[in-house]
Amino acid sequence: MRTDFTLVQLADPEVAEANRILRSCIHCGMCLATCPTYVVNGDERDSPRGRIYFIKNMLESGAAPSPSSVRHLDRCLGCLACETACPAGVDYGRLLERGRARVAADQRRPLVERLLRRLLGRVLPYPARLRALFRLVRLGRPVLARLPGRLGRAAALVPPPPASPVGAGVPRAEGTPVRRVLLLEGCVQQNLRPAIHGASVRLLTRLGCEVVVPEGAGCCGAISQHLGEADRAKAFARKNLDCWMAAIEEGCDAIVINAAGCGTMVKDYAALFQDDPAYREKAARVASLAQDISEIVEALGMPPGRVPPGKALPSGFTVAYQSACGLHYGQKIGGLPPMLLERAGFQIAALAEPELCCGSAGPYSLLQPAFAEALRERKLRAIEGVTADVVATGNIGCLDWLSRGSALPVVHVVELLDWASGGPQPAGIRTLSDG
Ligand code: SF4
Ligand code: SF4
Repeated sequence: MRTDFTLVQLADPEVAEANRILRSCIHCGMCLATCPTYVVNGDERDSPRGRIYFIKNMLESGAAPSPSSVRHLDRCLGCLACETACPAGVDYGRLLERGRARVAADQRRPLVERLLRRLLGRVLPYPARLRALFRLVRLGRPVLARLPGRLGRAAALVPPPPASPVGAGVPRAEGTPVRRVLLLEGCVQQNLRPAIHGASVRLLTRLGCEVVVPEGAGCCGAISQHLGEADRAKAFARKNLDCWMAAIEEGCDAIVINAAGCGTMVKDYAALFQDDPAYREKAARVASLAQDISEIVEALGMPPGRVPPGKALPSGFTVAYQSACGLHYGQKIGGLPPMLLERAGFQIAALAEPELCCGSAGPYSLLQPAFAEALRERKLRAIEGVTADVVATGNIGCLDWLSRGSALPVVHVVELLDWASGGPQPAGIRTLSDG
């Protein structure tokens, strides 16, 4: 793609990087059919190629982003399906970051939209704030859920209070520890489904890992990045880097992450800080240690099943596996979780359109409900098209979003792997032995 940046503009390393990415696009359009928003409405402005043009014009002109460019960039899920499909290797994710940061800096969105984004950015990444907000909303839900528009919808989405979170500490490995791993506790997941961390710790300790949940690490920065708040995203990442580097000094074989979106973000820290001399090395070290939990389970081998009598996996228990975009496109390990599930004794039901995002995408479902709901409906129809006992995925966002419309229980892959190797039956699953 031809670009027209001035030499002064190109002196800015971020513009120079955007220019390099833009020039790598050959307009072929092979990304279009993979893009969920284009699949929904067939409008090229809601396709990767359309968004690339919007970003190019916005960065080249240096003028305020047009309402149209803001609208179509905001509709992007950041799923990276287009990046995977692109034959020219266009780094769409990095370009999107640049575009979103430019839109966020200009603040041209309507007031309500700005307030909602600000609220999400100041609450979601902070577990204590989110807990407090959930408590308030639960108290006021009879009134709040009747409000029209997004506020009412958001109030209806607040889940019931969870059991106690994992908390910091060093659980004991079974036998002599073979690895010492750090577990990312993150932010939203511990409030929505703390059972995922519980299952992760049990499974990892059963595999001989000493699991450390370092105090002070928190949100990976993905939520802020999705909202276009690039500086805040880096601030979260720096906090984690400082905290993890201290823990790594005491010994660490892997940083284990059980949320696909967070894993993608942490693995990207090296690229994010490549121009930052103070954090470049730390980021590269952390990124090299980051693993999705399915990767370390694969490396250590599933432990033999030790399911108590009467609680064995029912034969033929079938899982409809939804491959989260963070694993499928971000980390390119989407095939690993279903393989582990099969090894653990589950059957896998293949979904139609397995490559299509479910519409969750971090705060996207709150910001773009029409697209998010259209994609969820599509995914739910695919789930209804198979015979399965449970839906499993590797990302809290997908899990929570799909569970709001699915007739089947939706669980994290790690909850099933934990169950198959001696852990408790995940909540919501009913088996024949339950009567
Ligand atoms: S990231 Fe996903 S939604 Fe955004 S342009 Fe690419 S394929 Fe489309
Ligand atoms: S597939 Fe790649 S090169 Fe082709 S239009 Fe899309 S981004 Fe550009």
